[in-house]
This record gives sequence, structure tokens and C-alpha cells, in this order.
Amino acid sequence: MRRALAALLAALAAVTGAGAEEAPSPRPSRLLRFLGGAATGLGAHEMGHVTLDLAFGTSPRVRGVDFHGIPFFAVSHEPLPPGEEYLVSSAGFAVQNATSEWLLSGGRPLREQAAPYKKGWLAFNVMASAAYAGAAFARTGPAERDTRGMAESAAVDERWIGALVLAPALLDSYRYFRPRSKWAPWASRAAKVAMVLLVVRAANRPPDARPAAVTPRP
Ligand SMILES: [Zn+2]
Repeated sequence: MRRALAALLAALAAVTGAGAEEAPSPRPSRLLRFLGGAATGLGAHEMGHVTLDLAFGTSPRVRGVDFHGIPFFAVSHEPLPPGEEYLVSSAGFAVQNATSEWLLSGGRPLREQAAPYKKGWLAFNVMASAAYAGAAFARTGPAERDTRGMAESAAVDERWIGALVLAPALLDSYRYFRPRSKWAPWASRAAKVAMVLLVVRAANRPPDARPAAVTPRP
């Protein structure tokens, strides 16, 4: 009898164990959704470049690059006039900035929601901008990095571009933790608009001002 009870308990444990495998605990599934959101953020960033490449009639190509030993990829294209080059180079950040605005605006604060996908997307936006800003401040990384393409086409120091990219990332992080702040959304939006408006400076440069090099962007 005791042996039968032990067998029954073992069978139950096996069944509940199998059940747990079929319906995974919320933790890994939350992590997967978070990573899915981050991957969506990366895809949206690259789609921003590709969409403007196509809009300006250049054919984007993917090639491998190396960032301090980390293999990565870049979307390259033929040289463009400075104004168009600035828009293509900044398109990834523009998409990040716009989607962060969408993720942080309206309704219940994101931090109070069980929304791992959205949180993963926002985390990608913030961390990618911070990483790019770091590369811009150090002026390091692949020669084709977005911040360098922006700096060269607008003829400004790359560290200013780094500041324009970092400011919304810091402010949007602050907004995530302090969703009721009145000033942070507007400070963030001002920095985002300033980044877009720099295209005016690039567009006013001579069309051949950009070095005649293929300009891929990671
Ligand atoms: Zn990019």
C-alpha cells in the first residue's frame, strides 16, 4: 500500500512536472517577450535606415563589420548629398526616439504595466543610444557608425552628436522611473527635435561636401 502510494505520488509529480513544462512559468516567457521587444527595437532601427535609403534611390547592402572584436553588420549605400546622408544616418535614432515617445506616452505608465515586450523595446532604444553616444564621445568604433555619418554630413564635432543622442536616452530613462514628471517629456522631445533639425545645416552644405566614400552604418 505504501509502495502504491509512493508510486502514485511519483506519477503525480511527473504529471505536474510535465504540466509545468507545457505551460512554462511566467519568468522565462517574460524574458523571451522582453528579448523579443529588444529585437524589434533593433529591427526598427535598421528599417529606418533602409526605408530612407530606398526613398533616396540608393540600394542598401548588408556587410559585416567589427566593433572591438564583436562581429556586427552594417547597411551600406552609395554616397549621398549631405542633407540626405544626414537623414539616412540619423534615421535609426529617429525611429528609436519616436517609438520611445509612443512607449512612454498615454495611458498607464509603462513601469506600472506588465508589458515585457514594450519594456524590452524601450530598453533597446535607451541602451543602443547610450552605446552609440559612448562611441561618439570616444570617436571610436567602425568608421561607418551612425554618429560619424551625422557629424560629417552636418560638419559638427561628433561629440555634439553624441550629446544629442544621449540626452533623450537619459531623459526617457528618467521618464520611465518618474512617469509623472512634467518637464522631462518636453526636455526629451526638445533634444529629439534638435537632432532632426540639424538636417538643415547638412542640407545647406555643398552637395559634394561629403567625402566620396561608401558610408555603411551599423
Ligand atoms: Zn544605425
